[in-house]
Amino acid sequence: MANRKRGKKTTVRKQATPKAPARPDRQSRYRRLSRETLELALNEVPGYAEWRQFDPGPKAGVDERYAALPALTKRELREHFPAGFVPRQRELGPGLAAGEVEFAQTSGSTDDRVTLVFNPAWWEASERAAWALNRHARDAAVGRHREAVLASPRCVGPGYSARPLSVAERTIGRHLYVNQKINPATWSDGDVRRMAQEINGYEPVALEGDPAYLAAFARRASESGIEVCQPRLIFLTYSYPSLVYLRQIRQVFSAPLISSYGSTETGHVFMECEAGRLHQNSGHCRVDFLPWLFRHGGPRRGRILVTVFHNPWFVVLRFDIGDVARLDDHGPCPCGRRSGMVLQAIEGRVGDVTFDPEGNAVTVADLDAALARVPGLSGWQLDLPRPGEMRLRVQVDAGAARRACREARERLRVIYGEGVRIEAAAARALQHESSGKMRFVRTAYPVDLAALWRSKR
Ligand SMILES: [Zn+2]
Repeated sequence: MANRKRGKKTTVRKQATPKAPARPDRQSRYRRLSRETLELALNEVPGYAEWRQFDPGPKAGVDERYAALPALTKRELREHFPAGFVPRQRELGPGLAAGEVEFAQTSGSTDDRVTLVFNPAWWEASERAAWALNRHARDAAVGRHREAVLASPRCVGPGYSARPLSVAERTIGRHLYVNQKINPATWSDGDVRRMAQEINGYEPVALEGDPAYLAAFARRASESGIEVCQPRLIFLTYSYPSLVYLRQIRQVFSAPLISSYGSTETGHVFMECEAGRLHQNSGHCRVDFLPWLFRHGGPRRGRILVTVFHNPWFVVLRFDIGDVARLDDHGPCPCGRRSGMVLQAIEGRVGDVTFDPEGNAVTVADLDAALARVPGLSGWQLDLPRPGEMRLRVQVDAGAARRACREARERLRVIYGEGVRIEAAAARALQHESSGKMRFVRTAYPVDLAALWRSKR
Protein backbone atom coordinates (compact mmCIF):
# COMPACT_ATOMS: atom_id res chain seq x y z
CA MET A 1 0.00 0.00 0.00
CA ALA A 2 1.55 3.27 -1.07
CA ASN A 3 1.66 5.96 1.47
CA ARG A 4 3.29 8.91 -0.14
CA LYS A 5 0.61 11.52 -0.08
CA ARG A 6 0.56 14.50 2.17
CA GLY A 7 -1.75 14.62 5.08
CA LYS A 8 -4.06 17.18 6.33
CA LYS A 9 -2.71 20.61 5.73
CA THR A 10 -2.96 23.61 7.91
CA THR A 11 -2.29 27.29 8.08
CA VAL A 12 -0.97 30.41 9.52
CA ARG A 13 -3.46 32.85 10.97
CA LYS A 14 -3.58 35.98 8.88
CA GLN A 15 -5.75 38.58 7.34
CA ALA A 16 -7.89 37.71 4.36
CA THR A 17 -11.16 38.62 2.61
CA PRO A 18 -14.66 37.28 2.36
CA LYS A 19 -15.55 35.84 -0.99
CA ALA A 20 -14.45 38.38 -3.55
CA PRO A 21 -16.32 38.64 -6.84
CA ALA A 22 -14.67 36.34 -9.36
CA ARG A 23 -14.35 37.02 -13.07
CA PRO A 24 -17.60 35.95 -14.74
CA ASP A 25 -15.96 33.17 -16.81
CA ARG A 26 -14.32 31.68 -13.71
CA GLN A 27 -17.57 31.93 -11.82
CA SER A 28 -19.57 30.18 -14.50
CA ARG A 29 -16.91 27.46 -14.84
CA TYR A 30 -17.02 26.94 -11.07
CA ARG A 31 -20.79 26.57 -11.15
CA ARG A 32 -20.64 24.20 -14.10
CA LEU A 33 -18.02 21.99 -12.39
CA SER A 34 -20.08 22.08 -9.20
CA ARG A 35 -23.18 20.95 -11.07
CA GLU A 36 -21.42 18.26 -13.13
CA THR A 37 -19.74 16.77 -10.05
CA LEU A 38 -23.02 16.75 -8.12
CA GLU A 39 -24.85 15.00 -10.97
CA LEU A 40 -22.06 12.48 -11.47
CA ALA A 41 -22.12 11.64 -7.76
CA LEU A 42 -25.89 11.32 -7.46
CA ASN A 43 -26.40 9.42 -10.72
CA GLU A 44 -23.31 7.25 -11.09
CA VAL A 45 -21.74 6.69 -7.69
CA PRO A 46 -23.23 3.98 -5.42
CA GLY A 47 -22.09 5.64 -2.18
CA TYR A 48 -24.47 8.57 -2.83
CA ALA A 49 -27.56 6.54 -3.73
CA GLU A 50 -29.32 7.54 -0.52
CA TRP A 51 -28.57 11.22 -1.07
CA ARG A 52 -30.80 11.48 -4.16
CA GLN A 53 -33.88 11.89 -1.98
CA PHE A 54 -32.49 15.20 -0.68
CA ASP A 55 -31.70 16.73 -4.09
CA PRO A 56 -34.30 19.35 -5.12
CA GLY A 57 -33.37 18.60 -8.75
CA PRO A 58 -31.97 20.49 -11.74
CA LYS A 59 -34.59 23.24 -11.59
CA ALA A 60 -33.04 24.45 -8.34
CA GLY A 61 -29.85 26.51 -8.31
CA VAL A 62 -26.61 24.62 -7.82
CA ASP A 63 -25.87 26.21 -4.43
CA GLU A 64 -29.35 25.29 -3.25
CA ARG A 65 -28.84 21.69 -4.37
CA TYR A 66 -25.56 21.43 -2.49
CA ALA A 67 -27.05 22.98 0.62
CA ALA A 68 -29.82 20.36 0.67
CA LEU A 69 -27.34 17.45 0.82
CA PRO A 70 -25.76 15.89 3.91
CA ALA A 71 -22.03 15.92 4.64
CA LEU A 72 -19.72 13.05 3.73
CA THR A 73 -17.63 11.68 6.60
CA LYS A 74 -14.85 9.17 7.07
CA ARG A 75 -17.44 6.72 8.31
CA GLU A 76 -19.13 6.52 4.88
CA LEU A 77 -15.76 6.31 3.15
CA ARG A 78 -14.90 3.35 5.32
CA GLU A 79 -18.29 1.65 4.98
CA HIS A 80 -18.30 1.81 1.19
CA PHE A 81 -14.68 0.84 0.63
CA PRO A 82 -13.38 -0.09 -1.90
CA ALA A 83 -15.74 0.65 -4.81
CA GLY A 84 -18.52 2.73 -3.22
CA PHE A 85 -17.20 6.08 -4.43
CA VAL A 86 -15.91 4.93 -7.80
CA PRO A 87 -18.27 5.89 -10.68
CA ARG A 88 -20.09 2.88 -12.16
CA GLN A 89 -18.42 3.18 -15.56
CA ARG A 90 -14.95 2.66 -14.04
CA GLU A 91 -13.58 -0.73 -13.11
CA LEU A 92 -11.36 -0.82 -10.09
CA GLY A 93 -9.54 -4.07 -10.94
CA PRO A 94 -8.13 -2.94 -14.30
CA GLY A 95 -7.41 0.54 -12.84
CA LEU A 96 -5.32 -0.98 -10.07
CA ALA A 97 -3.60 -3.37 -12.48
CA ALA A 98 -2.69 -0.51 -14.81
CA GLY A 99 -1.37 1.58 -11.92
CA GLU A 100 -3.90 4.35 -12.60
CA VAL A 101 -5.06 4.03 -8.99
CA GLU A 102 -3.78 2.51 -5.78
CA PHE A 103 -5.13 1.95 -2.31
CA ALA A 104 -3.82 4.59 0.06
CA GLN A 105 -4.24 5.17 3.73
CA THR A 106 -5.02 8.67 4.92
CA SER A 107 -2.81 10.24 7.55
CA GLY A 108 -5.72 10.86 9.91
CA SER A 109 -4.75 12.76 13.01
CA THR A 110 -6.67 10.39 15.24
CA ASP A 111 -7.22 6.69 14.98
CA ASP A 112 -9.84 7.17 12.30
CA ARG A 113 -7.58 6.46 9.37
CA VAL A 114 -9.29 5.53 6.14
CA THR A 115 -8.16 3.56 3.12
CA LEU A 116 -9.02 5.25 -0.17
CA VAL A 117 -8.86 4.70 -3.89
CA PHE A 118 -6.07 7.10 -4.73
CA ASN A 119 -5.29 8.49 -8.17
CA PRO A 120 -1.74 9.94 -8.27
CA ALA A 121 -2.32 11.92 -11.49
CA TRP A 122 -5.27 13.71 -9.92
CA TRP A 123 -3.23 14.47 -6.78
CA GLU A 124 -0.37 15.95 -8.76
CA ALA A 125 -2.72 18.09 -10.84
CA SER A 126 -4.31 19.48 -7.69
CA GLU A 127 -0.87 20.26 -6.27
CA ARG A 128 0.22 22.06 -9.42
CA ALA A 129 -2.96 24.12 -9.44
CA ALA A 130 -2.33 25.08 -5.81
CA TRP A 131 1.21 26.32 -6.55
CA ALA A 132 -0.30 29.05 -8.72
CA LEU A 133 -1.83 30.54 -5.56
CA ASN A 134 1.53 31.63 -4.17
CA ARG A 135 4.11 33.63 -6.12
CA HIS A 136 7.11 31.92 -4.48
CA ALA A 137 5.67 28.48 -5.11
CA ARG A 138 4.71 29.35 -8.68
CA ASP A 139 8.24 30.62 -9.43
CA ALA A 140 10.18 27.84 -7.70
CA ALA A 141 7.99 24.77 -7.97
CA VAL A 142 8.22 23.59 -11.54
CA GLY A 143 6.95 20.07 -11.02
CA ARG A 144 10.33 18.34 -11.23
CA HIS A 145 11.98 20.21 -8.37
CA ARG A 146 13.58 18.35 -5.48
CA GLU A 147 11.65 18.39 -2.26
CA ALA A 148 12.77 17.14 1.15
CA VAL A 149 10.02 16.10 3.54
CA LEU A 150 10.20 16.18 7.33
CA ALA A 151 7.11 14.63 8.86
CA SER A 152 5.93 11.49 10.59
CA PRO A 153 7.00 8.33 8.72
CA ARG A 154 3.52 7.01 9.51
CA CYS A 155 1.98 9.85 7.46
CA VAL A 156 4.16 9.98 4.34
CA GLY A 157 7.00 8.36 2.50
CA PRO A 158 7.91 4.70 2.21
CA GLY A 159 6.23 3.88 5.52
CA TYR A 160 7.60 3.36 8.99
CA SER A 161 10.36 0.79 9.34
CA ALA A 162 12.08 -0.30 12.54
CA ARG A 163 15.14 -0.99 10.40
CA PRO A 164 16.85 2.22 9.23
CA LEU A 165 16.17 2.78 5.53
CA SER A 166 18.77 4.01 3.07
CA VAL A 167 18.45 7.34 1.26
CA ALA A 168 17.57 5.39 -1.88
CA GLU A 169 14.78 3.57 -0.06
CA ARG A 170 13.44 6.91 1.18
CA THR A 171 13.58 8.67 -2.16
CA ILE A 172 10.30 8.44 -4.07
CA GLY A 173 10.20 10.41 -7.30
CA ARG A 174 11.41 13.93 -6.54
CA HIS A 175 10.81 13.57 -2.78
CA LEU A 176 13.32 12.59 -0.11
CA TYR A 177 11.73 11.63 3.23
CA VAL A 178 14.38 12.33 5.84
CA ASN A 179 12.73 11.47 9.17
CA GLN A 180 12.51 7.85 10.28
CA LYS A 181 11.21 8.17 13.84
CA ILE A 182 7.62 8.59 14.94
CA ASN A 183 8.19 11.07 17.75
CA PRO A 184 10.79 13.82 17.25
CA ALA A 185 11.59 13.69 20.97
CA THR A 186 13.28 10.33 20.33
CA TRP A 187 15.77 11.73 17.80
CA SER A 188 19.37 11.20 18.85
CA ASP A 189 22.00 13.83 18.03
CA GLY A 190 23.11 11.44 15.31
CA ASP A 191 19.58 11.43 13.80
CA VAL A 192 19.54 15.24 13.66
CA ARG A 193 23.01 15.32 12.08
CA ARG A 194 22.07 12.67 9.51
CA MET A 195 18.88 14.51 8.51
CA ALA A 196 20.80 17.78 8.14
CA GLN A 197 23.47 16.07 6.03
CA GLU A 198 20.85 14.48 3.84
CA ILE A 199 19.04 17.77 3.31
CA ASN A 200 22.33 19.52 2.55
CA GLY A 201 23.34 16.80 0.09
CA TYR A 202 19.94 16.80 -1.64
CA GLU A 203 19.82 20.63 -1.96
CA PRO A 204 16.03 20.70 -2.14
CA VAL A 205 14.25 23.60 -3.81
CA ALA A 206 11.42 23.11 -1.32
CA LEU A 207 11.26 21.68 2.15
CA GLU A 208 7.91 20.28 3.24
CA GLY A 209 7.33 19.81 6.91
CA ASP A 210 4.90 19.01 9.64
CA PRO A 211 5.42 22.11 11.82
CA ALA A 212 5.94 20.00 14.96
CA TYR A 213 8.74 18.00 13.34
CA LEU A 214 10.30 20.92 11.50
CA ALA A 215 10.36 23.03 14.68
CA ALA A 216 11.99 20.22 16.67
CA PHE A 217 14.56 19.75 13.91
CA ALA A 218 15.31 23.50 13.74
CA ARG A 219 15.70 23.73 17.50
CA ARG A 220 18.01 20.74 17.75
CA ALA A 221 20.11 21.81 14.74
CA SER A 222 20.47 25.29 16.17
CA GLU A 223 21.43 24.00 19.65
CA SER A 224 24.10 21.76 18.13
CA GLY A 225 25.41 24.43 15.75
CA ILE A 226 24.56 22.27 12.72
CA GLU A 227 24.37 24.18 9.44
CA VAL A 228 21.34 23.42 7.26
CA CYS A 229 21.07 24.57 3.65
CA GLN A 230 18.33 27.09 2.87
CA PRO A 231 15.59 25.90 0.53
CA ARG A 232 13.79 28.49 -1.63
CA LEU A 233 10.50 27.83 0.11
CA ILE A 234 8.99 25.83 2.93
CA PHE A 235 5.55 24.23 2.78
CA LEU A 236 3.90 23.71 6.15
CA THR A 237 1.31 21.00 6.15
CA TYR A 238 -0.06 17.95 8.04
CA SER A 239 -0.97 19.80 11.23
CA TYR A 240 -1.69 23.14 12.83
CA PRO A 241 1.28 25.53 12.61
CA SER A 242 1.53 26.69 16.19
CA LEU A 243 3.12 30.09 16.80
CA VAL A 244 5.70 28.39 19.02
CA TYR A 245 6.68 26.13 16.12
CA LEU A 246 6.85 28.97 13.62
CA ARG A 247 9.17 30.86 15.95
CA GLN A 248 11.60 27.93 16.13
CA ILE A 249 11.49 27.30 12.38
CA ARG A 250 12.21 30.97 11.60
CA GLN A 251 15.31 30.91 13.80
CA VAL A 252 16.95 28.52 11.36
CA PHE A 253 15.18 28.95 8.03
CA SER A 254 14.88 32.20 6.10
CA ALA A 255 12.73 30.92 3.19
CA PRO A 256 9.07 31.96 2.96
CA LEU A 257 6.83 29.70 5.06
CA ILE A 258 3.76 28.74 3.07
CA SER A 259 0.81 26.90 4.58
CA SER A 260 -0.66 24.33 2.27
CA TYR A 261 -3.98 22.86 3.32
CA GLY A 262 -5.80 19.77 2.16
CA SER A 263 -6.07 16.06 2.77
CA THR A 264 -5.59 12.75 1.04
CA GLU A 265 -9.37 12.63 0.42
CA THR A 266 -9.59 16.12 -1.08
CA GLY A 267 -6.22 17.02 -2.59
CA HIS A 268 -4.99 20.60 -2.18
CA VAL A 269 -7.82 22.81 -0.99
CA PHE A 270 -6.23 26.09 0.18
CA MET A 271 -2.80 27.64 -0.30
CA GLU A 272 -1.37 30.59 1.57
CA CYS A 273 -0.49 33.44 -0.79
CA GLU A 274 2.52 35.71 -0.46
CA ALA A 275 0.32 38.17 1.46
CA GLY A 276 -0.48 35.50 4.05
CA ARG A 277 -4.11 34.69 3.25
CA LEU A 278 -5.43 31.27 2.32
CA HIS A 279 -6.91 31.09 -1.18
CA GLN A 280 -9.21 28.35 -2.35
CA ASN A 281 -7.83 26.09 -5.06
CA SER A 282 -11.08 26.72 -6.88
CA GLY A 283 -10.18 25.17 -10.23
CA HIS A 284 -9.82 21.93 -8.33
CA CYS A 285 -12.51 21.92 -5.68
CA ARG A 286 -15.69 23.47 -4.36
CA VAL A 287 -15.77 24.58 -0.73
CA ASP A 288 -18.99 25.10 1.22
CA PHE A 289 -18.59 27.07 4.41
CA LEU A 290 -21.05 26.31 7.22
CA PRO A 291 -20.89 28.97 9.90
CA TRP A 292 -20.94 28.15 13.57
CA LEU A 293 -23.40 29.79 15.92
CA PHE A 294 -22.57 33.37 16.88
CA ARG A 295 -21.66 32.43 20.46
CA HIS A 296 -18.96 30.09 19.14
CA GLY A 297 -17.42 32.62 16.73
CA GLY A 298 -19.83 32.46 13.79
CA PRO A 299 -20.57 33.63 11.20
CA ARG A 300 -16.88 34.03 10.27
CA ARG A 301 -15.87 30.86 12.04
CA GLY A 302 -17.24 27.54 10.84
CA ARG A 303 -16.60 24.20 9.24
CA ILE A 304 -15.85 23.51 5.62
CA LEU A 305 -17.17 20.81 3.29
CA VAL A 306 -15.04 20.03 0.25
CA THR A 307 -16.21 18.74 -3.14
CA VAL A 308 -13.49 17.56 -5.52
CA PHE A 309 -13.91 18.38 -9.24
CA HIS A 310 -11.50 16.36 -11.33
CA ASN A 311 -11.00 12.96 -9.79
CA PRO A 312 -12.42 10.42 -12.27
CA TRP A 313 -11.81 7.55 -9.84
CA PHE A 314 -13.04 8.71 -6.50
CA VAL A 315 -15.96 11.11 -6.22
CA VAL A 316 -15.87 13.26 -3.11
CA LEU A 317 -18.91 15.44 -2.43
CA ARG A 318 -19.27 17.68 0.64
CA PHE A 319 -16.52 15.95 2.58
CA ASP A 320 -16.34 17.16 6.16
CA ILE A 321 -12.61 17.68 6.46
CA GLY A 322 -12.86 18.18 10.21
CA ASP A 323 -11.09 21.50 10.70
CA VAL A 324 -12.21 24.91 11.93
CA ALA A 325 -11.99 27.65 9.28
CA ARG A 326 -12.07 31.42 9.76
CA LEU A 327 -13.21 33.51 6.80
CA ASP A 328 -11.22 36.60 6.05
CA ASP A 329 -13.04 39.93 6.17
CA HIS A 330 -10.28 42.43 5.45
CA GLY A 331 -11.27 43.30 1.88
CA PRO A 332 -9.53 42.29 -1.35
CA CYS A 333 -6.21 40.49 -0.83
CA PRO A 334 -3.14 42.61 -1.73
CA CYS A 335 -1.87 39.69 -3.84
CA GLY A 336 -4.57 40.48 -6.41
CA ARG A 337 -6.20 37.05 -6.51
CA ARG A 338 -9.94 37.54 -6.64
CA SER A 339 -11.58 34.18 -7.19
CA GLY A 340 -12.72 31.67 -4.62
CA MET A 341 -13.06 31.68 -0.88
CA VAL A 342 -10.39 33.41 1.21
CA LEU A 343 -9.61 32.32 4.75
CA GLN A 344 -7.77 34.16 7.45
CA ALA A 345 -6.84 30.88 9.11
CA ILE A 346 -7.52 27.27 9.78
CA GLU A 347 -7.87 27.20 13.56
CA GLY A 348 -7.15 23.54 14.26
CA ARG A 349 -9.27 20.41 14.40
CA VAL A 350 -12.98 20.60 15.22
CA GLY A 351 -12.34 17.56 17.43
CA ASP A 352 -9.80 19.61 19.41
CA VAL A 353 -12.33 22.31 20.36
CA THR A 354 -12.91 22.83 24.08
CA PHE A 355 -15.41 25.03 25.91
CA ASP A 356 -15.09 27.94 28.31
CA PRO A 357 -17.24 28.19 31.49
CA GLU A 358 -20.09 29.81 29.49
CA GLY A 359 -20.02 26.89 27.06
CA ASN A 360 -18.47 28.87 24.19
CA ALA A 361 -15.95 27.30 21.83
CA VAL A 362 -12.20 27.58 22.38
CA THR A 363 -10.20 26.52 19.31
CA VAL A 364 -6.60 25.35 19.10
CA ALA A 365 -5.78 28.78 17.65
CA ASP A 366 -7.32 30.49 20.71
CA LEU A 367 -5.22 28.35 23.04
CA ASP A 368 -2.10 28.77 20.95
CA ALA A 369 -2.42 32.56 20.96
CA ALA A 370 -2.55 32.50 24.77
CA LEU A 371 0.19 29.92 25.34
CA ALA A 372 2.64 31.21 22.72
CA ARG A 373 3.25 34.23 24.95
CA VAL A 374 4.68 32.05 27.73
CA PRO A 375 8.48 32.57 27.71
CA GLY A 376 10.60 29.53 26.91
CA LEU A 377 7.76 27.38 25.55
CA SER A 378 8.65 25.19 22.56
CA GLY A 379 5.62 22.88 22.48
CA TRP A 380 2.30 22.28 24.24
CA GLN A 381 -0.45 19.68 24.45
CA LEU A 382 -3.61 19.74 26.53
CA ASP A 383 -5.24 16.57 27.84
CA LEU A 384 -8.81 16.48 29.18
CA PRO A 385 -9.04 13.11 30.91
CA ARG A 386 -12.51 13.81 32.36
CA PRO A 387 -14.90 16.78 32.63
CA GLY A 388 -13.55 19.44 34.99
CA GLU A 389 -9.94 18.32 34.68
CA MET A 390 -7.15 19.51 32.40
CA ARG A 391 -3.52 18.53 32.17
CA LEU A 392 -1.17 20.67 30.14
CA ARG A 393 2.05 19.12 28.91
CA VAL A 394 4.73 21.65 27.90
CA GLN A 395 8.14 21.45 26.34
CA VAL A 396 10.32 24.24 27.69
CA ASP A 397 13.86 25.59 27.49
CA ALA A 398 16.25 24.35 30.17
CA GLY A 399 15.74 26.22 33.43
CA ALA A 400 12.42 27.76 32.34
CA ALA A 401 10.13 24.93 33.45
CA ARG A 402 8.81 26.19 36.74
CA ARG A 403 7.95 29.68 35.54
CA ALA A 404 6.58 28.43 32.20
CA CYS A 405 4.26 25.93 33.91
CA ARG A 406 2.98 28.59 36.30
CA GLU A 407 2.37 31.13 33.56
CA ALA A 408 0.78 28.58 31.25
CA ARG A 409 -1.57 27.46 34.02
CA GLU A 410 -2.55 31.07 34.70
CA ARG A 411 -3.32 31.65 31.05
CA LEU A 412 -5.53 28.56 30.91
CA ARG A 413 -7.22 29.73 34.11
CA VAL A 414 -8.17 33.00 32.34
CA ILE A 415 -9.80 30.98 29.53
CA TYR A 416 -11.44 28.17 31.50
CA GLY A 417 -12.17 29.82 34.85
CA GLU A 418 -11.92 28.60 38.43
CA GLY A 419 -14.27 25.65 38.09
CA VAL A 420 -11.69 23.44 36.35
CA ARG A 421 -8.74 21.68 37.89
CA ILE A 422 -5.72 22.62 35.76
CA GLU A 423 -2.30 21.04 36.09
CA ALA A 424 0.75 21.91 34.00
CA ALA A 425 3.94 19.91 33.82
CA ALA A 426 7.09 20.01 31.72
CA ALA A 427 7.74 16.91 29.61
CA ARG A 428 10.50 15.80 27.31
CA ALA A 429 8.07 14.62 24.67
CA LEU A 430 4.56 15.39 23.48
CA GLN A 431 2.46 12.32 22.92
CA HIS A 432 1.65 11.20 19.39
CA GLU A 433 -1.37 9.33 18.07
CA SER A 434 -0.87 5.91 16.53
CA SER A 435 -1.06 7.65 13.15
CA GLY A 436 2.11 9.50 14.13
CA LYS A 437 0.39 12.88 14.38
CA MET A 438 0.57 15.07 17.41
CA ARG A 439 -2.76 16.51 18.52
CA PHE A 440 -2.91 19.75 20.48
CA VAL A 441 -5.97 18.85 22.52
CA ARG A 442 -7.02 15.35 23.51
CA THR A 443 -10.42 15.05 25.10
CA ALA A 444 -10.94 11.55 26.48
CA TYR A 445 -14.74 11.77 26.80
CA PRO A 446 -17.49 12.34 24.24
CA VAL A 447 -18.42 15.93 23.41
CA ASP A 448 -21.39 17.00 21.28
CA LEU A 449 -19.53 19.03 18.66
CA ALA A 450 -22.64 19.44 16.48
CA ALA A 451 -23.75 21.97 19.12
CA LEU A 452 -21.24 24.32 17.47
CA TRP A 453 -23.48 24.79 14.46
CA ARG A 454 -26.86 23.27 15.36
CA SER A 455 -29.44 25.89 16.10
CA LYS A 456 -31.81 25.34 18.99
CA ARG A 457 -34.96 25.70 16.93
ZN1 LIG B 1 -3.69 36.69 -1.46
